[in-house]
Amino acid sequence: SKGIQIERLSKRYGEGDTAVLALKDVNMHVAPGEVVGLIGPSGSGKSTLLKCLGAVIDPTSGRMVLSDEVVFDNGWRVSDLRALRRDKIGFVFQAPYLIPFLDVTDNVALLPMLAGVPNDEARERAGELLAALDVQHRAKAMPAQLSGGEQQRVAIARGLVNRPPVILADEPTAPLDSVRAMAVIRILNAMARRFQTAVVVVTHDEKIIPTFKRIYHIRDGITHEEEGEGRSLQ
Ligand code: ADP
Ligand code: ADP
Repeated sequence: SKGIQIERLSKRYGEGDTAVLALKDVNMHVAPGEVVGLIGPSGSGKSTLLKCLGAVIDPTSGRMVLSDEVVFDNGWRVSDLRALRRDKIGFVFQAPYLIPFLDVTDNVALLPMLAGVPNDEARERAGELLAALDVQHRAKAMPAQLSGGEQQRVAIARGLVNRPPVILADEPTAPLDSVRAMAVIRILNAMARRFQTAVVVVTHDEKIIPTFKRIYHIRDGITHEEEGEGRSLQ
């Protein structure tokens, strides 16, 4: 995998006088195995960048490579975005969107099952992640029985379970206390190392910002790269 490579990516919404240039020649690279932070005030372009990275919207111009696949070239869509989203990208959203009629284990195991992993193995993989995120005691519960923080951790397990080469996490720790937030960061780092995943974490969370080795700051559609503290997670 080449991780994530973005070159001079721009996104314009609308045309003429009312056009908004939400991204202006953004460059970004995330190596396989690396976890970077993406930080910026409201309206700075974070969601737009995350949607481009997630192959949810097309940029206006620029180039983007995810894993080993050219996705956009010169603003043109080169890949099958739906297949890309399914096979290459793990999404961890702020809202958990769990499937209400499946228990916790099967919410996490569903994606690998659909991808053809035998049910036992898929559930075992789900169990390992649930344990790492400290929600294994809720494995048989239904989503409606979980607290907000538990739902969030189950959603994180689901985003990781297919071991995608790219993980995009939008405020994954916002509702969690310090200990749980650090557990999430620890597992994202462990996943990144073990499976050579490129991880982008959009966050405002002061608890986790010191853990990044590298941070992209975005303001008015322009990114600046900065070294982070890379504080140890022990
Ligand atoms: P953030 O996620 O950092 O709050 P966004 O990416 O949502 O920033 O927005 C960046 C800029 O693009 C803002 O000026 C916003 O108003 C504008 N914008 C975002 N989405 C749209 C849209 N769908 N149509 C028009 N303008 C948009
Ligand atoms: P496409 O032609 O692929 O639909 P667009 O950029 O027109 O690409 O829209 C894709 C997504 O971007 C929309 O689903 C929406 O989330 C966001 N978006 C783009 N432009 C607007 C807009 N003017 N108002 C609201 N959302 C927008």
